[in-house]
Amino acid sequence: MRRLFPAAALSAILLLPCFAAAQESEAVPTAWQVRTDPITLVNGAPAVLYVATPVKLETLSGSWMGRKVFFEFDNATSSWYALFGVQLNAAPGKYPLTLEGRTDTGSPVSFQQDLEVASQPYASVELKVQHKFTAPSRRLLKRIKKEAILKHHVFAQSSDTREWHGDFTAPVSEPITEAFGIRRVFNGELKTEHQGLDYHAPRGTRVVAANSGTVLLARRLFFEGNCVVVDHGQGLMTLYMHLSKFKVRKGQRVRRGQLLGLSGATGRATGPHLHLAVRWEGIYLDPAKLLKLDLPSSQAVHSAAAGARPGADKSGEAQDRAVSQD
Ligand SMILES: [Zn+2]
Repeated sequence: MRRLFPAAALSAILLLPCFAAAQESEAVPTAWQVRTDPITLVNGAPAVLYVATPVKLETLSGSWMGRKVFFEFDNATSSWYALFGVQLNAAPGKYPLTLEGRTDTGSPVSFQQDLEVASQPYASVELKVQHKFTAPSRRLLKRIKKEAILKHHVFAQSSDTREWHGDFTAPVSEPITEAFGIRRVFNGELKTEHQGLDYHAPRGTRVVAANSGTVLLARRLFFEGNCVVVDHGQGLMTLYMHLSKFKVRKGQRVRRGQLLGLSGATGRATGPHLHLAVRWEGIYLDPAKLLKLDLPSSQAVHSAAAGARPGADKSGEAQDRAVSQD
């Protein structure tokens, strides 16, 4: 007889109780245990991956949908954890997660498990903006192209060292006016997806860093307006757009809650607001879902050397169309 139980639901039922038992006794689990928070993965959403291993490991890294997953060990749960996500246009289905580790004696270990991605529907809206933003002149196209190269370069600079720790917090305490993933039609012609979260932020509202990191960019861009990019390490960045004023400089280290700038309506904006974007390994993820994740608060302990990771950049993808940055 065909089994009617979905594999993901079954594995969640089987894995969660023994995972909890392992935490209580601090015993090493007898098999690899993989769980995600939230349990259901959807397109466009970040999630936390927890892995308990049958042998004690010195290092663990993973690969998921062609992207590198960086793990840290959390003493509180005796498990490895990582932030990861699913791109907005991913089709529902099962995707393999590959894990590779090394024991303290240097022996390599590996494990693979399929994780299920469910479909998240997104709504559609019509918007009006100045004509130049949907049909830019040749001069503007030149500028747009130049800025695309600059962004490509900036996005390739995420450090291998994790700089974030603990939960991500909202950059402003204003209401959300437009959700992530909404399909938009500009001036009845240009179709794109909203790759961030819009906050209603009157001009001059203080905009603070969602977590600790390093400022990779603080300058004016055509679509994004005055834009700050904060690198949190390990391929994770947050972007703050349409600012009226900068309060940080490129290269500056910032802590969660530190003032980055003041909100405004620079770039392609229909009025003063803050557009917050979350970028992980070259894809944009729903910031609202990142802000809701309960993340381990352990400080970064690994001494992996910081440096550019050009391999992680996916700037050639449709994700980077400048038109999606509002
Ligand atoms: Zn926006």
